[in-house]
Amino acid sequence: MSSILLITFDLDDTFWDIKSTIINAEMNSRKWSEDRIGEKIEWGTFEDFMKIRNELVKEDTSLEYDLGMLRKKTIAHHTKKFFKDAKDLDEFIEDAYTFFLGERHKVTFYDNVVSVLEQLSAEYKLGVLTNGNADVNKLGIGHLFDFSISSMDVKSNKPDKAHFVKARELSQIDFKNTLHVGDHQVNDILGARKLGINTMWFNLNNLDWEIDENPPIQFNKWSQFIKLVEKSYGN
Ligand SMILES: [Mg+2]
Repeated sequence: MSSILLITFDLDDTFWDIKSTIINAEMNSRKWSEDRIGEKIEWGTFEDFMKIRNELVKEDTSLEYDLGMLRKKTIAHHTKKFFKDAKDLDEFIEDAYTFFLGERHKVTFYDNVVSVLEQLSAEYKLGVLTNGNADVNKLGIGHLFDFSISSMDVKSNKPDKAHFVKARELSQIDFKNTLHVGDHQVNDILGARKLGINTMWFNLNNLDWEIDENPPIQFNKWSQFIKLVEKSYGN
């Protein structure tokens, strides 16, 4: 009998590559905005983009976990000069954000992710713990999970404990019977480990474990995952 009753998963860079997803979403959204406004827009460099985001977060720290609002404010920053009427601007921002969100959900799952989740969902409770704004219900895999917790839900980002504590509250399963799986050494592995949650590191690029002398159990292909869970925790 496995000691694991609940498995929680990170999403971005754990189930799919986030950089290519966001770059595509960003490019398509820019084109969408320019087509809608009918003008070329000065988007600036990637550094400018990050600078604007950092300044917005400095003004309002809740934007650190409210990625939707951060995105809307970034859109407004670039486009407000094209609108005389505040209502027209608001309407544009809502539409632009809806478009972006649709694009952001055009992900390519890593090999075997979905079939592995399907198999696991028959044996374990499954949950999502994400700092991002992907929604598993928009990806056709929502039915495989018992719950999904985003940063907006807990007004906090991993590695802080709020996601993990909320998972325990929703599942009624102790940390010692929970396994958290993610790609990030600090946000996922260290955050969970500090609470006594079991961890597995999805280490796609075979990085070195830089945190301490105690590397977590790790894997780089989803096809390895179920056997590894059974080997590590029993079945
Ligand atoms: Mg991640």
